[in-house]
Amino acid sequence: MSPSPPKRVCVIGAGASGMAAAYALSKHPDKFIVTVFDKELVLGGMATSIDIDSSKYGATYINDGVQGCSPAFANFPSYVQDLRI
Ligand SMILES: Cc1cc2nc3c(=O)[nH]c(=O)nc-3n(C[C@H](O)[C@H](O)[C@H](O)COP(=O)(O)OP(=O)(O)OC[C@H]3O[C@@H](n4cnc5c(N)ncnc54)[C@H](O)[C@@H]3O)c2cc1C
Repeated sequence: MSPSPPKRVCVIGAGASGMAAAYALSKHPDKFIVTVFDKELVLGGMATSIDIDSSKYGATYINDGVQGCSPAFANFPSYVQDLRI
């Protein structure tokens, strides 16, 4: 019997939740073909950064959502490491 074809999965929303779900599913390309849709032009949902003038503010960007990460969310540091972000 041949293996069943991968399921097509549509994730609506490219915030942290949608991206985490899409990332986890995409690690199994034999089982899932994942497409992510978002109504905005940028990914990240609430967790995004904005470019700023470093000569004026002393930094190249500012976070407008997430400022830090509680150690209670143990998966987040491992995502950062996996994805080298
Ligand atoms: C000011 C602020 C500070 C924060 N600080 C921290 C922090 O320090 N540490 C921390 O862990 N968390 C923090 N958070 C919380 C964290 O940012 C959110 O919990 C997390 O980003 C939510 O992710 P989400 O994917 O659930 O939702 P969202 O980020 O809201 O993503 C939902 C996505 O779905 C899209 N969408 C909605 N409707 C549709 C539609 N009909 N069709 C297509 N796309 C759609 C939206 O455009 C969006 O991109 C902070 C939040 C804010 C606002």
